[in-house]
Amino acid sequence: MEIVPVPAFADNYIWLVHDDASRETAVVDPGDGAAALGEAKRRGWAIGQVWNTHWHRDHTGGNLVVKETTGARISGPGGETIPGIDVPLAEGDTIRLGRRVGRVIEVPGHTLGHIALIFDEDGVAFVGDTLFAMGCGRLFEGTPEQMYGSLQRLAELPEGTRLYCAHEYTLANARFAAHAEPGNGAIARRLAEVQELRDHFAITLPTTVAQERATNPFVRAANASDFAALRTAKDSFRS
Ligand code: ZN
Ligand code: FE
Repeated sequence: MEIVPVPAFADNYIWLVHDDASRETAVVDPGDGAAALGEAKRRGWAIGQVWNTHWHRDHTGGNLVVKETTGARISGPGGETIPGIDVPLAEGDTIRLGRRVGRVIEVPGHTLGHIALIFDEDGVAFVGDTLFAMGCGRLFEGTPEQMYGSLQRLAELPEGTRLYCAHEYTLANARFAAHAEPGNGAIARRLAEVQELRDHFAITLPTTVAQERATNPFVRAANASDFAALRTAKDSFRS
């Protein structure tokens, strides 16, 4: 499985996912259809599927142009309004790319219907705006209890699992993490690494479950109320 980031807007990543054996390609959260189509074309990849994690326009705004251009089939959360949806997904459903199989888990919090797509054999998960490197999505629709539960489900994946998030928020998250856990050496080291990467405009993703367990204060929160307090503090934090 080859996974390529397509930067879009100020800080979004659209992910192109390609399976060599079948030559099938999927695109995750094409907020900008032209950007996704352009990168696929450069690589000679034909997009056959769109996978959406949640309804926000910066994730679905390119659905229709991708579908009109390529005939791609669109899969996304069944509980949300997804432009052009063909296959509504819910907890326990599977998606396929060639012979690779992904499973759907529901991870409410950022939105109520938000899903993540997990390819266990590949050690890959597409997590949308639920978990970010060293941070998590804002609670637009769900409760702290829901989001905390969703993060814990992702953090319980095998520690080598690579997590593909939908935004480049890592540096701001790292600064908050260092503020939230001043004694955490892993956070201090990762902040320096991320600063160096961003100084060169390099991508900081994917992250891994192991890294998040060690350096993500929202994952590390002991319970939902500690999580809620951290989320509130982050919302007003200015580095
Ligand atoms: Zn979002
Ligand atoms: Fe987003």
